[in-house]
Amino acid sequence: MAGLYIHVPYCHKACHYCNFHFSTSLKDMDKMVDSICTELLLRKDYLDQRLIETVYFGGGTPSILSSDNLSKIFHAIHDHYSIASSAEITLEANPEDITETSLLCWKSLGVNRLSIGIQSFQNEYLHWMNRNHSSEASIKCVTLAQKNGFENISIDLIYGLPTLTADQWRAEIQTAISLNVPHISSYCLTVEEKTVFGNLAKKGALQPIPDEISEEHLIILIHELLAAGYEQYEISNFCKPAFESKHNSSYWQRKPYIGIGPGAHSYNHRERAANISNNSLYIKQIEKNEWTGSIEILSDIDQYNEYILTRLRTKWGITLIEIEAFSLPDIEKTIKLLTQFVNEGFLYIKDDIYLLTTKGKLLADEITLQLMH
Ligand code: SF4
Repeated sequence: MAGLYIHVPYCHKACHYCNFHFSTSLKDMDKMVDSICTELLLRKDYLDQRLIETVYFGGGTPSILSSDNLSKIFHAIHDHYSIASSAEITLEANPEDITETSLLCWKSLGVNRLSIGIQSFQNEYLHWMNRNHSSEASIKCVTLAQKNGFENISIDLIYGLPTLTADQWRAEIQTAISLNVPHISSYCLTVEEKTVFGNLAKKGALQPIPDEISEEHLIILIHELLAAGYEQYEISNFCKPAFESKHNSSYWQRKPYIGIGPGAHSYNHRERAANISNNSLYIKQIEKNEWTGSIEILSDIDQYNEYILTRLRTKWGITLIEIEAFSLPDIEKTIKLLTQFVNEGFLYIKDDIYLLTTKGKLLADEITLQLMH
């Protein structure tokens, strides 16, 4: 099993918190789509002809693509890769791009899962984050997608906003639940450098929220969503039974994938590859029929660190058998730490699998760092 990720590096507007690779200048979009199609051809052997079981259009804002451009990319995918008939095909979409026409187009091309960037149901916060849609538009677009046959929908929400109260956050989650979507992803706002919020923080005009507030929001999130029948299968990801994101789960289970487009990453067990994060340089390079991204050969320790970083956060947890397979130099230290975390109530063991407790989930980053070599 393998995955295919396509990075579409364009957005209508720059959200104030976002440090992903994207441009709001859309002038090279047609050339970019041609380059993405060429890269799909140039690197078709990267995954050794493995069957592709998940395709994910991320960004940026993939829903910004015209139907002609999206259709070109789909043709290139089917020309050069074997796509399983049951493949999960996800498109990230923002509310402003979701119309009956776009939904019908996506469906006809084979998209069977939408990941909709909603972030908040309160216009005040949407405006503060410079999102390009209203709360009303978000609710409407989810209903429209459902009416047009999209059952497998994920929505994103952000918590940890400086003035978001516990009651407001609870109400946001209840609105999400009322939309009857089978998947909800929710992340704490992080203030990144080279973003509007990062610059405000540098000037002292935006204060980081205290850890207790973000922890309180996470606890509310877990409580409300579990009570509504969602499973927390990864710290930030919740789903109704059988609606896990297969694509993201395959990252967490270290299955190979190829990433196409500027800034995309690839992984094939032996190495990690990164495409250049610059739209015009990427186009120039691919127009010469060359792929010259950077490649990092992964040592046993790199692979182990990656395993801890991704798996500990999930319901699949980590096991001693898998840890021992990495031939680490000082495995006793790791085993000792695991025992210590169990004794302190941060981890528990079920069927020989180490899993985070709720207390552990609040300190997952710290625990992960300590377990890494
Ligand atoms: S959050 Fe999404 S829509 Fe906003 S700038 Fe980043 S990639 Fe674009």
